[in-house]
Amino acid sequence: MKVVLITGCSSGIGLSLAVRLASDSSKIFKVYATMRNLAKKERLLESVKGLHRDTLEILQMDVTDRQSIMNAREKVVEKRVDILVCNAGVGLMGPLEIQSLDSMKHILEVNLLGTIQTIQVFLSDMKAQGQGRILVTGSTGGLHGLPFNEVYCASKFAIEGACESLAVLLQHFNIQVSLIECGPVNSDFLVNLQKAELGDESLQQVDGQTLSLYEKYLQHCSMVFQNAAQDTEDIVKVFLEAIHSTKPAFRYFTNSVMPPLTNLKVSEPDGMNYITALSQIIFSDDQ
Ligand code: NAD
Repeated sequence: MKVVLITGCSSGIGLSLAVRLASDSSKIFKVYATMRNLAKKERLLESVKGLHRDTLEILQMDVTDRQSIMNAREKVVEKRVDILVCNAGVGLMGPLEIQSLDSMKHILEVNLLGTIQTIQVFLSDMKAQGQGRILVTGSTGGLHGLPFNEVYCASKFAIEGACESLAVLLQHFNIQVSLIECGPVNSDFLVNLQKAELGDESLQQVDGQTLSLYEKYLQHCSMVFQNAAQDTEDIVKVFLEAIHSTKPAFRYFTNSVMPPLTNLKVSEPDGMNYITALSQIIFSDDQ
């Protein structure tokens, strides 16, 4: 039996992945679905229809609270985790000049340090086991920048660096690190996102040109989510591909091909083609 621990399971990708693995007909997975606030566990319980008492356990875990990560680790009865899924994350959207230090710190604490310290807490056991998988929910916003998402992208870019560095080392311990790079996904992400709305008082201090570009960005964003967002089940399929692979890749793209913008970014090292292309896509008047 493979012991899987997943962060951020009260909604979205984490919830779907927990349900799928706990319901697997082969019963090869024992899932520890963790969430910051156990009061939100009903949705997960409803989704598994109470059927999977032997394959699913729900634990409290706030990725920004080291003690709560250690407490969760203690509660894993098998005393090992074979597959660690770092999935918890939050977004922050709006003009950079209005973001408070506290909200920026919060994004970095959850997305970056939360992921890193979750890995830290489980790493020694995994090394001692001589095997393991670390799967991280990445974002195409961790591969190329998105206007009005500077701090979110910074946190996701940083995850790429941390994971790639770890992947090089952990090969020597038979531990594989994989990033599941998602584009837009239908989840609670947009609801949980800290987002400046157009009528907000905080936007009054922002210059008119930025505001009009922000308005265009918001339109672009809702169009992209309407036309191109994937369902969490599509993302779960990619997680399963990584989990079942005997030689998992470092990066998986949920859209099966590398998105053209990511391609542009990696194939043009001087960086200007990507910046010009994205600006045209989002802000040009003839879209
Ligand atoms: P979601 O908001 O439904 O899920 C995120 C989960 O993380 C929530 O359940 C939330 O409670 C949890 N969380 C937040 N802070 C936490 C903390 N301190 N400790 C533990 N859990 C915490 O959105 P989602 O789309 O399922 O997001 C999952 C991951 O996917 C995130 O890392 C996100 O950055 C990434 N992602 C999402 C999208 C998208 O468009 N939805 C795109 C690319 C990447």
